[in-house]
Amino acid sequence: MIDIHRDLKSIIRYQAAHAYPNECCGMLIGTRDGDKVTVVEVVAAPNVSESPADSFEIDPQSRLTLQKLLRGTPREIVGHYHSHPDGEAAPSERDREQLLEPDLYWIVASVNQGGVGEMGIFRFDQDAAAFVPAEEAPQPV
Ligand SMILES: [Zn+2]
Repeated sequence: MIDIHRDLKSIIRYQAAHAYPNECCGMLIGTRDGDKVTVVEVVAAPNVSESPADSFEIDPQSRLTLQKLLRGTPREIVGHYHSHPDGEAAPSERDREQLLEPDLYWIVASVNQGGVGEMGIFRFDQDAAAFVPAEEAPQPV
């Protein structure tokens, strides 16, 4: 289960709109308690893909820096997010091919020119060999 506050989702939506018509990307920082992951922060990273309008590649240097900062703390990288300009709020076939770390949660935000779109949260199910929607904790009132 993943617990992510609506305020953090708003930050991702803002970044998706800001990056349009390119894809934005970033990392989800959180804590793990058994099967439950709580996202406490979202950190934007440069999209260094050669084709940023239809793919993403999180800047490896940003990720390394972040991992260094998190070392020795209870926080870790628990997932990442990116946007699909005029696309669906779900991992694409291309995303599936790039799957390197099945432990991470994926947030995919669809965004159109008006900056509006759906957001999907997924994890990779090894048994099914497919992305499945993640179980999400209820939002606080
Ligand atoms: Zn994608």
